[in-house]
Amino acid sequence: MPTDPYAWIEPSLATIHQANWYRSVQTIQSRPGATVVLEGREVINFASNDYLGLAGDERLIEAAVGAAKEFGTGATGSRLITGHRQLHRELESAIASLKQTEDALVFSSGYLASLGAIAALVGGRDLILSDQYNHSSLKNGAIVSGATVIDYPHCDVADLKNKLGQHRQQYRRCLIITDSVFSMDGDLCQIPYLLDLAEEFSCMLLVDEAHATGVLGKTGAGCVEHFGCSDRTLIQIGTLSKALGSLGGYVAGNATLIDFLRNRAPSWIYTTGLSPADTAAALAAVKIVQQEPLRRARLWRNVGILKNLLRLPNLKLLPSESSILCLQLNNAAEALKMGQKLKDAGIFAPAIRPPTVPTSRIRMTVMANHEPVHFQRLLEALMEG
Ligand code: PMP
Repeated sequence: MPTDPYAWIEPSLATIHQANWYRSVQTIQSRPGATVVLEGREVINFASNDYLGLAGDERLIEAAVGAAKEFGTGATGSRLITGHRQLHRELESAIASLKQTEDALVFSSGYLASLGAIAALVGGRDLILSDQYNHSSLKNGAIVSGATVIDYPHCDVADLKNKLGQHRQQYRRCLIITDSVFSMDGDLCQIPYLLDLAEEFSCMLLVDEAHATGVLGKTGAGCVEHFGCSDRTLIQIGTLSKALGSLGGYVAGNATLIDFLRNRAPSWIYTTGLSPADTAAALAAVKIVQQEPLRRARLWRNVGILKNLLRLPNLKLLPSESSILCLQLNNAAEALKMGQKLKDAGIFAPAIRPPTVPTSRIRMTVMANHEPVHFQRLLEALMEG
Protein backbone atom coordinates (compact mmCIF):
# COMPACT_ATOMS: atom_id res chain seq x y z
CA MET A 1 0.00 0.00 0.00
CA PRO A 2 1.46 3.40 -0.90
CA THR A 3 1.66 5.74 2.10
CA ASP A 4 -0.07 9.14 2.06
CA PRO A 5 2.65 11.56 0.86
CA TYR A 6 0.85 14.48 2.56
CA ALA A 7 0.51 12.80 5.98
CA TRP A 8 3.53 14.66 7.40
CA ILE A 9 1.82 18.08 7.17
CA GLU A 10 -0.58 17.64 10.10
CA PRO A 11 2.08 16.60 12.67
CA SER A 12 4.35 19.39 11.38
CA LEU A 13 1.59 21.90 11.99
CA ALA A 14 1.11 20.44 15.48
CA THR A 15 4.81 21.07 16.27
CA ILE A 16 4.39 24.69 15.19
CA HIS A 17 1.50 25.00 17.67
CA GLN A 18 3.49 23.33 20.45
CA ALA A 19 6.42 25.72 19.98
CA ASN A 20 4.06 28.73 20.22
CA TRP A 21 5.04 29.59 16.64
CA TYR A 22 1.58 29.31 15.10
CA ARG A 23 0.36 32.44 13.29
CA SER A 24 -3.04 33.44 11.97
CA VAL A 25 -4.42 36.50 10.22
CA GLN A 26 -6.42 39.30 11.80
CA THR A 27 -8.88 41.31 9.72
CA ILE A 28 -8.69 45.11 9.46
CA GLN A 29 -12.09 46.48 8.45
CA SER A 30 -11.35 50.16 7.90
CA ARG A 31 -9.06 52.48 5.96
CA PRO A 32 -5.47 52.48 7.18
CA GLY A 33 -4.72 55.09 9.84
CA ALA A 34 -3.51 55.78 13.39
CA THR A 35 -6.68 54.03 14.54
CA VAL A 36 -8.28 51.15 12.65
CA VAL A 37 -11.17 48.76 13.09
CA LEU A 38 -9.67 45.38 13.92
CA GLU A 39 -12.16 42.53 13.95
CA GLY A 40 -15.09 44.76 14.83
CA ARG A 41 -13.31 46.95 17.37
CA GLU A 42 -11.55 50.30 17.04
CA VAL A 43 -7.91 50.04 18.14
CA ILE A 44 -4.92 52.35 18.18
CA ASN A 45 -2.60 51.13 15.46
CA PHE A 46 1.06 50.55 16.36
CA ALA A 47 1.45 47.72 13.84
CA SER A 48 1.44 49.47 10.48
CA ASN A 49 4.26 50.23 8.06
CA ASP A 50 2.31 53.25 6.82
CA TYR A 51 4.80 55.56 8.56
CA LEU A 52 3.67 58.78 6.89
CA GLY A 53 -0.03 57.93 6.96
CA LEU A 54 -0.24 58.00 3.16
CA ALA A 55 -2.06 54.70 2.54
CA GLY A 56 -5.38 56.36 3.42
CA ASP A 57 -4.54 59.75 1.88
CA GLU A 58 -7.20 61.09 -0.52
CA ARG A 59 -4.56 62.13 -3.07
CA LEU A 60 -3.20 58.60 -3.38
CA ILE A 61 -6.71 57.17 -3.57
CA GLU A 62 -7.69 59.64 -6.30
CA ALA A 63 -4.50 58.89 -8.25
CA ALA A 64 -5.19 55.14 -8.01
CA VAL A 65 -8.85 55.51 -9.06
CA GLY A 66 -7.94 57.85 -11.92
CA ALA A 67 -5.28 55.46 -13.25
CA ALA A 68 -7.62 52.46 -13.00
CA LYS A 69 -10.29 54.36 -14.93
CA GLU A 70 -7.85 55.44 -17.63
CA PHE A 71 -5.67 52.34 -17.97
CA GLY A 72 -7.76 49.51 -16.45
CA THR A 73 -7.07 47.33 -13.44
CA GLY A 74 -4.25 45.11 -14.65
CA ALA A 75 -1.02 45.67 -16.56
CA THR A 76 -1.98 42.57 -18.63
CA GLY A 77 1.54 41.32 -19.19
CA SER A 78 5.19 41.57 -18.27
CA ARG A 79 6.85 44.95 -18.80
CA LEU A 80 8.82 43.63 -21.81
CA ILE A 81 5.65 42.39 -23.58
CA THR A 82 2.36 44.30 -23.00
CA GLY A 83 2.74 45.42 -19.38
CA HIS A 84 4.71 48.64 -19.78
CA ARG A 85 3.01 52.04 -19.36
CA GLN A 86 4.32 55.59 -19.38
CA LEU A 87 3.25 55.73 -15.69
CA HIS A 88 5.90 53.13 -14.83
CA ARG A 89 8.64 55.31 -16.30
CA GLU A 90 7.27 58.37 -14.53
CA LEU A 91 7.41 56.50 -11.23
CA GLU A 92 10.92 55.24 -11.96
CA SER A 93 12.11 58.79 -12.74
CA ALA A 94 10.47 60.08 -9.55
CA ILE A 95 12.19 57.38 -7.47
CA ALA A 96 15.55 58.12 -9.13
CA SER A 97 15.04 61.81 -8.37
CA LEU A 98 14.19 61.05 -4.71
CA LYS A 99 17.15 58.71 -4.32
CA GLN A 100 19.50 60.97 -6.35
CA THR A 101 20.47 58.05 -8.59
CA GLU A 102 20.72 57.92 -12.39
CA ASP A 103 17.79 55.55 -12.75
CA ALA A 104 15.44 53.15 -10.98
CA LEU A 105 13.42 50.05 -11.83
CA VAL A 106 10.02 49.24 -10.35
CA PHE A 107 9.19 45.65 -9.39
CA SER A 108 5.85 44.14 -8.30
CA SER A 109 7.01 44.00 -4.67
CA GLY A 110 10.05 44.76 -2.56
CA TYR A 111 10.51 41.04 -2.05
CA LEU A 112 10.70 40.48 -5.82
CA ALA A 113 13.11 43.41 -6.22
CA SER A 114 15.55 41.72 -3.82
CA LEU A 115 15.16 38.27 -5.36
CA GLY A 116 15.63 39.61 -8.88
CA ALA A 117 18.53 41.95 -8.24
CA ILE A 118 20.58 39.52 -6.16
CA ALA A 119 20.01 36.64 -8.58
CA ALA A 120 21.06 38.88 -11.49
CA LEU A 121 24.22 40.19 -9.83
CA VAL A 122 25.86 37.02 -8.55
CA GLY A 123 25.93 33.31 -9.33
CA GLY A 124 27.70 30.05 -8.62
CA ARG A 125 31.25 31.45 -8.77
CA ASP A 126 30.50 34.34 -6.43
CA LEU A 127 30.30 35.18 -2.72
CA ILE A 128 27.57 36.91 -0.71
CA LEU A 129 28.20 38.30 2.76
CA SER A 130 24.91 38.79 4.57
CA ASP A 131 24.01 40.37 7.93
CA GLN A 132 22.50 37.61 10.08
CA TYR A 133 19.39 39.76 10.82
CA ASN A 134 18.63 40.52 7.16
CA HIS A 135 15.06 40.38 5.91
CA SER A 136 13.82 37.14 4.39
CA SER A 137 13.78 38.70 0.90
CA LEU A 138 17.56 39.25 1.00
CA LYS A 139 18.22 35.82 2.49
CA ASN A 140 16.09 34.07 -0.11
CA GLY A 141 17.57 36.20 -2.91
CA ALA A 142 20.99 34.98 -1.78
CA ILE A 143 19.84 31.34 -1.86
CA VAL A 144 18.18 31.71 -5.28
CA SER A 145 21.36 33.29 -6.74
CA GLY A 146 23.37 30.09 -6.20
CA ALA A 147 26.30 32.07 -4.76
CA THR A 148 28.16 30.93 -1.63
CA VAL A 149 26.49 32.72 1.29
CA ILE A 150 28.33 33.57 4.51
CA ASP A 151 26.43 35.32 7.31
CA TYR A 152 28.22 37.82 9.52
CA PRO A 153 27.03 38.66 13.07
CA HIS A 154 24.49 41.50 13.16
CA CYS A 155 26.15 44.84 12.29
CA ASP A 156 29.61 43.45 13.18
CA VAL A 157 31.82 45.34 10.74
CA ALA A 158 35.04 43.94 12.25
CA ASP A 159 33.84 40.37 11.71
CA LEU A 160 32.76 41.25 8.17
CA LYS A 161 36.26 42.58 7.45
CA ASN A 162 37.82 39.36 8.78
CA LYS A 163 35.52 37.26 6.63
CA LEU A 164 36.32 39.35 3.55
CA GLY A 165 40.04 38.96 4.23
CA GLN A 166 39.63 35.21 4.60
CA HIS A 167 37.30 34.45 1.67
CA ARG A 168 37.12 37.30 -0.87
CA GLN A 169 40.01 36.17 -3.08
CA GLN A 170 38.58 32.72 -3.75
CA TYR A 171 35.56 34.15 -5.56
CA ARG A 172 34.92 36.04 -8.79
CA ARG A 173 32.45 38.70 -7.57
CA CYS A 174 31.40 39.55 -4.05
CA LEU A 175 28.15 41.18 -2.91
CA ILE A 176 27.53 42.49 0.60
CA ILE A 177 23.80 42.57 1.41
CA THR A 178 22.13 44.32 4.32
CA ASP A 179 18.92 45.94 5.51
CA SER A 180 19.49 49.65 6.18
CA VAL A 181 16.83 49.78 8.91
CA PHE A 182 16.52 46.35 10.50
CA SER A 183 12.84 45.59 10.38
CA MET A 184 12.43 43.67 13.62
CA ASP A 185 14.83 45.72 15.77
CA GLY A 186 14.75 49.24 14.35
CA ASP A 187 18.51 49.77 14.45
CA LEU A 188 20.54 51.02 11.47
CA CYS A 189 23.28 49.46 9.41
CA GLN A 190 26.44 51.64 9.40
CA ILE A 191 26.45 52.26 5.65
CA PRO A 192 29.66 54.38 5.48
CA TYR A 193 31.74 51.56 7.03
CA LEU A 194 30.24 49.00 4.68
CA LEU A 195 30.95 51.25 1.70
CA ASP A 196 34.59 51.57 2.80
CA LEU A 197 34.91 47.79 3.17
CA ALA A 198 33.21 47.23 -0.18
CA GLU A 199 35.74 49.56 -1.79
CA GLU A 200 38.73 47.99 -0.01
CA PHE A 201 37.77 44.44 -1.01
CA SER A 202 36.26 45.24 -4.41
CA CYS A 203 32.74 44.18 -3.50
CA MET A 204 29.31 45.39 -4.57
CA LEU A 205 27.04 46.64 -1.77
CA LEU A 206 23.26 46.17 -1.83
CA VAL A 207 21.21 47.96 0.81
CA ASP A 208 17.49 47.33 1.49
CA GLU A 209 15.85 50.69 2.25
CA ALA A 210 12.37 49.21 2.85
CA HIS A 211 11.82 50.88 6.24
CA ALA A 212 13.91 53.97 5.46
CA THR A 213 12.35 55.23 2.21
CA GLY A 214 10.30 58.37 2.93
CA VAL A 215 11.33 58.18 6.57
CA LEU A 216 15.08 58.79 6.96
CA GLY A 217 17.31 61.45 5.41
CA LYS A 218 16.77 65.16 4.93
CA THR A 219 14.57 64.70 1.85
CA GLY A 220 13.19 61.28 2.81
CA ALA A 221 15.49 59.41 0.40
CA GLY A 222 16.42 56.92 3.12
CA CYS A 223 19.31 55.74 5.24
CA VAL A 224 21.88 56.24 2.48
CA GLU A 225 20.97 59.94 2.51
CA HIS A 226 20.85 59.95 6.34
CA PHE A 227 24.54 58.92 6.38
CA GLY A 228 25.47 61.39 3.60
CA CYS A 229 26.37 58.61 1.15
CA SER A 230 24.03 59.47 -1.76
CA ASP A 231 26.98 60.24 -4.06
CA ARG A 232 28.70 56.88 -3.52
CA THR A 233 28.21 53.84 -5.76
CA LEU A 234 25.91 51.16 -4.36
CA ILE A 235 22.69 49.32 -5.14
CA GLN A 236 19.59 50.48 -3.29
CA ILE A 237 16.45 48.42 -2.96
CA GLY A 238 13.18 49.42 -1.36
CA THR A 239 9.45 49.01 -1.22
CA LEU A 240 6.55 51.20 -2.31
CA SER A 241 4.35 49.54 0.32
CA LYS A 242 5.48 51.11 3.59
CA ALA A 243 5.92 54.91 3.90
CA LEU A 244 4.83 55.24 0.25
CA GLY A 245 1.46 53.65 1.05
CA SER A 246 1.11 51.61 -2.17
CA LEU A 247 2.42 48.28 -3.42
CA GLY A 248 5.57 47.38 -5.32
CA GLY A 249 9.34 47.55 -4.98
CA TYR A 250 12.26 49.31 -6.59
CA VAL A 251 15.96 49.11 -7.30
CA ALA A 252 17.79 52.44 -7.64
CA GLY A 253 21.33 52.91 -8.91
CA ASN A 254 23.32 53.88 -11.94
CA ALA A 255 21.84 53.63 -15.44
CA THR A 256 24.00 50.69 -16.52
CA LEU A 257 22.93 48.65 -13.49
CA ILE A 258 19.24 49.35 -14.17
CA ASP A 259 19.60 48.52 -17.87
CA PHE A 260 21.34 45.27 -16.91
CA LEU A 261 18.56 44.35 -14.45
CA ARG A 262 15.91 44.95 -17.13
CA ASN A 263 17.69 42.21 -19.09
CA ARG A 264 18.70 39.85 -16.31
CA ALA A 265 16.40 40.06 -13.26
CA PRO A 266 14.02 37.08 -13.56
CA SER A 267 11.48 38.47 -11.06
CA TRP A 268 11.15 41.59 -13.24
CA ILE A 269 11.24 39.96 -16.68
CA TYR A 270 8.86 37.09 -16.02
CA THR A 271 6.17 38.74 -13.94
CA THR A 272 3.27 41.06 -14.70
CA GLY A 273 3.96 44.79 -14.51
CA LEU A 274 2.73 46.74 -11.50
CA SER A 275 -0.95 47.67 -11.82
CA PRO A 276 -1.80 51.21 -13.02
CA ALA A 277 -3.54 51.99 -9.70
CA ASP A 278 -0.57 50.93 -7.54
CA THR A 279 1.86 52.75 -9.85
CA ALA A 280 -0.11 56.00 -9.78
CA ALA A 281 -0.57 55.85 -5.98
CA ALA A 282 3.17 55.33 -5.47
CA LEU A 283 3.96 58.21 -7.84
CA ALA A 284 1.63 60.51 -5.88
CA ALA A 285 3.32 59.36 -2.64
CA VAL A 286 6.87 60.10 -3.88
CA LYS A 287 5.75 63.62 -4.80
CA ILE A 288 4.20 64.12 -1.34
CA VAL A 289 7.40 62.88 0.33
CA GLN A 290 9.35 65.49 -1.64
CA GLN A 291 6.86 68.33 -1.16
CA GLU A 292 5.76 67.81 2.46
CA PRO A 293 8.79 67.47 4.74
CA LEU A 294 6.48 68.38 7.63
CA ARG A 295 5.03 64.87 7.58
CA ARG A 296 8.46 63.39 8.19
CA ALA A 297 9.07 65.99 10.92
CA ARG A 298 5.80 64.93 12.61
CA LEU A 299 6.85 61.28 12.41
CA TRP A 300 10.21 62.01 14.10
CA ARG A 301 8.52 64.19 16.75
CA ASN A 302 6.26 61.21 17.51
CA VAL A 303 9.17 58.77 17.65
CA GLY A 304 10.81 61.09 20.23
CA ILE A 305 7.63 61.29 22.32
CA LEU A 306 7.16 57.52 22.43
CA LYS A 307 10.85 56.79 23.13
CA ASN A 308 10.75 59.18 26.11
CA LEU A 309 7.57 57.61 27.48
CA LEU A 310 9.02 54.09 27.19
CA ARG A 311 12.23 54.88 29.09
CA LEU A 312 11.04 53.19 32.30
CA PRO A 313 13.05 50.84 34.54
CA ASN A 314 10.65 47.90 34.10
CA LEU A 315 10.54 48.16 30.28
CA LYS A 316 13.39 46.86 28.10
CA LEU A 317 13.39 49.16 25.05
CA LEU A 318 15.76 47.84 22.36
CA PRO A 319 18.16 50.42 20.85
CA SER A 320 16.52 52.02 17.81
CA GLU A 321 17.24 54.92 15.47
CA SER A 322 14.14 54.47 13.36
CA SER A 323 10.35 54.54 13.65
CA ILE A 324 10.38 50.90 14.81
CA LEU A 325 10.51 50.50 18.59
CA CYS A 326 10.64 47.14 20.36
CA LEU A 327 10.10 46.08 23.95
CA GLN A 328 11.97 42.91 24.76
CA LEU A 329 10.21 40.16 26.74
CA ASN A 330 11.63 36.99 28.27
CA ASN A 331 9.95 34.42 26.05
CA ALA A 332 7.27 33.82 23.40
CA ALA A 333 4.54 33.06 25.96
CA GLU A 334 5.18 36.37 27.79
CA ALA A 335 5.21 38.29 24.53
CA LEU A 336 1.94 36.70 23.40
CA LYS A 337 0.37 37.50 26.78
CA MET A 338 1.47 41.12 26.54
CA GLY A 339 0.24 41.39 22.93
CA GLN A 340 -3.17 40.09 24.05
CA LYS A 341 -3.27 42.42 27.06
CA LEU A 342 -2.60 45.39 24.76
CA LYS A 343 -5.25 44.20 22.33
CA ASP A 344 -7.79 43.91 25.14
CA ALA A 345 -6.96 47.51 26.03
CA GLY A 346 -7.59 48.62 22.44
CA ILE A 347 -3.94 48.78 21.32
CA PHE A 348 -2.68 46.90 18.27
CA ALA A 349 1.04 46.18 18.88
CA PRO A 350 1.80 42.58 18.02
CA ALA A 351 4.12 40.08 19.67
CA ILE A 352 6.97 39.02 17.39
CA ARG A 353 8.70 35.81 18.36
CA PRO A 354 11.00 33.07 17.09
CA PRO A 355 11.48 31.91 14.41
CA THR A 356 10.96 35.43 12.96
CA VAL A 357 13.36 36.94 15.54
CA PRO A 358 15.86 35.38 17.96
CA THR A 359 14.17 36.87 21.06
CA SER A 360 10.50 37.61 21.73
CA ARG A 361 9.26 41.18 21.74
CA ILE A 362 6.40 43.62 21.29
CA ARG A 363 7.06 45.57 18.10
CA MET A 364 5.61 49.06 17.76
CA THR A 365 5.73 51.24 14.67
CA VAL A 366 5.22 54.97 14.92
CA MET A 367 3.23 56.98 12.37
CA ALA A 368 3.19 60.68 11.52
CA ASN A 369 -0.53 60.80 12.29
CA HIS A 370 -0.37 59.38 15.82
CA GLU A 371 -1.56 61.85 18.45
CA PRO A 372 -0.07 62.25 21.97
CA VAL A 373 -3.18 60.61 23.45
CA HIS A 374 -2.41 57.42 21.49
CA PHE A 375 0.99 57.15 23.17
CA GLN A 376 -0.53 57.86 26.58
CA ARG A 377 -3.06 55.05 26.09
CA LEU A 378 -0.28 52.67 25.02
CA LEU A 379 1.75 53.48 28.12
CA GLU A 380 -1.24 53.00 30.43
CA ALA A 381 -1.97 49.62 28.86
CA LEU A 382 1.67 48.54 29.19
CA MET A 383 1.79 49.51 32.88
CA GLU A 384 -1.54 47.91 33.81
CA GLY A 385 -1.47 44.77 35.99
N1 PMP B 1 12.61 44.28 3.02
C1 PMP B 1 12.24 44.51 4.29
C2 PMP B 1 13.29 44.91 5.28
C3 PMP B 1 10.90 44.38 4.67
O1 PMP B 1 10.53 44.60 5.93
C4 PMP B 1 9.95 44.01 3.68
C5 PMP B 1 8.47 43.90 4.01
N2 PMP B 1 8.15 43.29 5.17
C6 PMP B 1 10.39 43.77 2.39
C7 PMP B 1 11.72 43.91 2.08
C8 PMP B 1 9.43 43.31 1.32
O2 PMP B 1 8.74 44.37 0.80
P1 PMP B 1 7.34 44.10 0.07
O3 PMP B 1 6.32 44.05 1.17
O4 PMP B 1 7.18 45.25 -0.85
O5 PMP B 1 7.47 42.79 -0.63
